Amino acid sequence: MAAIFAFKCSCCGKVHEGSPSYAFKAPDHYASLSEEQKAAMGRINTDLCTVTRGEGTDYFIRTVLEIPIHGVAEPFTWGVWVSLSEKSFKRYVETYDEPVEGDGFFGWVCNAIPWYPPAEPLATDVAVQLGGKRPLLFLHHGGSDDHPLIVDQRRGISVAKAQEIAEFLQHPA
Ligand SMILES: [Zn+2]
Repeated sequence: MAAIFAFKCSCCGKVHEGSPSYAFKAPDHYASLSEEQKAAMGRINTDLCTVTRGEGTDYFIRTVLEIPIHGVAEPFTWGVWVSLSEKSFKRYVETYDEPVEGDGFFGWVCNAIPWYPPAEPLATDVAVQLGGKRPLLFLHHGGSDDHPLIVDQRRGISVAKAQEIAEFLQHPA
């Protein structure tokens, strides 16, 4: 039977309960800007972000990347920003309050995921969710040389691996 995730932390000795989740406040493209650049070029709230450079604008939305944990009901969740085309972004904004079931977009992951090795931009499908939940992210998979994050989303991770990543996130070196 699926259990609730909890573990005694090897860093601090406390019991951390609940499946781990980690969220980025902004896409890396925005976070890496100076304060002046953010004020001049960027716009952001909890779910939407744009960065305008000259003629071009980049569009980002916040999504949920779920990694199943073997034997545990709730997945490991990452709050990840992805870039969308202008057309997709406009559709997402227009239907934000009343998403249309089955709507989906192509997006690129725009955060470096801690613990995992650096990745080339990862391609994804973004699926809207109803009921006020953020869209779900599905990483495209290719072949045997897939990034470990892609493999983990497809196959799930062990409780031990979830614990190792959670400890890394809660107690960064
Ligand atoms: Zn701890």
